[in-house]
Amino acid sequence: MPATRKRILVTGGAGFLGSHLCERLVSAGHDVLCVDNYFTGSKDNIAALIPNPHFELLRHDVCFPLYVEVDEIYNLACPASPIHYQHDPVQTTKTSVSGAINMLGLAKRLRAKIFQSSTSEVYGDPSVHPQTEDYRGNVNPIGPRACYDEGKRCAETLFFDYHRQHKLRIRVARIFNTYGPRMHPNDGRVVSNFIVQALKGESITIYGDGKQTRAFCYVDDLIEGFMRLMGAADDVTGPINLGNPVETTVGELAQRIIELTGSRSKIERRPLPVDDPVQRCPDIARARSLLGWEPSVPLETGLKRTIAYFDRLLAEGRATSAIAAAK
Ligand code: NAD
Ligand code: UDP
Repeated sequence: MPATRKRILVTGGAGFLGSHLCERLVSAGHDVLCVDNYFTGSKDNIAALIPNPHFELLRHDVCFPLYVEVDEIYNLACPASPIHYQHDPVQTTKTSVSGAINMLGLAKRLRAKIFQSSTSEVYGDPSVHPQTEDYRGNVNPIGPRACYDEGKRCAETLFFDYHRQHKLRIRVARIFNTYGPRMHPNDGRVVSNFIVQALKGESITIYGDGKQTRAFCYVDDLIEGFMRLMGAADDVTGPINLGNPVETTVGELAQRIIELTGSRSKIERRPLPVDDPVQRCPDIARARSLLGWEPSVPLETGLKRTIAYFDRLLAEGRATSAIAAAK
C-alpha cells in the first residue's frame, strides 16, 4: 500500500488503456472510480476488478458534468481508433472538448491534479521527423480525422488555459500508437486487424503501399509512463510524448504477425484512407530526461502477448463489433 491511499478517477476506464490503468492503480493501493459510457469500452475489460472493494464503476457520459470527490483525475474518455471516432464525429469532438471542460471544472472545484490523454494525432501528417513536442503539427482541420485531432488539440488548449488561469496542476501526455491485450478486436487499428485476420486465416489488409510507418508501444510500458508523469513534480506539465521510438512500416508489421502466428494469410492491398499520416515516430528525449522513462518491451514480446489474448477471445467467440454494441 502507498503511504497515502488516493481516490483516483479514471474516465474511459473500461476501455483498452483505461482498464490497464485502473488495474495498476488498484494494485498500487489506491481507490479507483472508473467512469465510462461503454461506447467502445466494455465491462469485460474490468470484470476482474469489479469484486474489489477499492474499485467502483459508474456509467456516465463525460459530456455531462460529474460531481464526485477525488484527489486525482486521469481523463481518457474518448474513442481512439479511426473507425470508432469517425462513426459519430460530432460526438467525438463533444467528448474531447465538453469532456475536458467538465473534468477540468471538477478538478478546479476539488483542486485535484488532472492528466489528459492527448495523442500523436495533434501532429497530423507531420513534416518534422521524429516528432518533438515543440512541433506544432500539420492537421487538416476539415478532414475526416479532424473531429479527433482538433478535439484533442482544443482539449490541450483548455488544459493549459486552466493551468495558467486557475493554477490547476495538469499533466498532458501525447500518446503514440499503443497495442496490447484488450484492444477491441474490430476497432480497425492495424495491430488488432492484422492479428485477427492472421488468426482467422483471412487476408491481411494493407492500406496503400505499406511503407507508411508507425511506432508501436506495448501497453504496460505506456501505463508506466502515465504513472511517472502523474507522479512527477508539478512543473512537469507536458505536453510530453509517450511512445516507442522504434519505427516499423505497416508492411513489416504484417510480415512479423504472419510469422508469429504461423498464418497462411495472404496480403491484400486496399486504398490508403484520407489524411493517413505517412510517417510517425516519437522523439522521447523529454520523457527520458524528465521521467527517466523509456519503453522496455520489444515488439516481438508484445505481439506474442497480444496474439495470445486475441486467440483466447476468438476461441470464446467474443469478437463482436463495438459500434454495433453501442447502437
Ligand atoms: P478505447 O476506445 O478502448 O477507450 C476509450 C474509453 O472511453 C472507452 O471505454 C469508451 O467507452 C469511453 N468513452 C468514450 N466516450 C465517452 C464519453 N463521452 N463518456 C464516457 N466514456 C466515454 O481507447 P483507448 O485506446 O483505451 O484510448 C484511451 C485514451 O487514450 C483516449 O483518450 C485516446 O484518445 C488516447 N490515445 C490512445 C492511443 C492508443 O494507441 N491506444 C493513442 C493516442 C491516444
Ligand atoms: N492500416 C492498414 N491496414 C489495416 C489497418 C490499418 O494498413 O487493416 C494502416 C493505416 O492506414 C495506417 C496504419 O496502419 O497507416 C496505422 O493505422 P491505425 O488505424 O492503427 O492507427 P493510426 O492511423 O491512427 O496511427
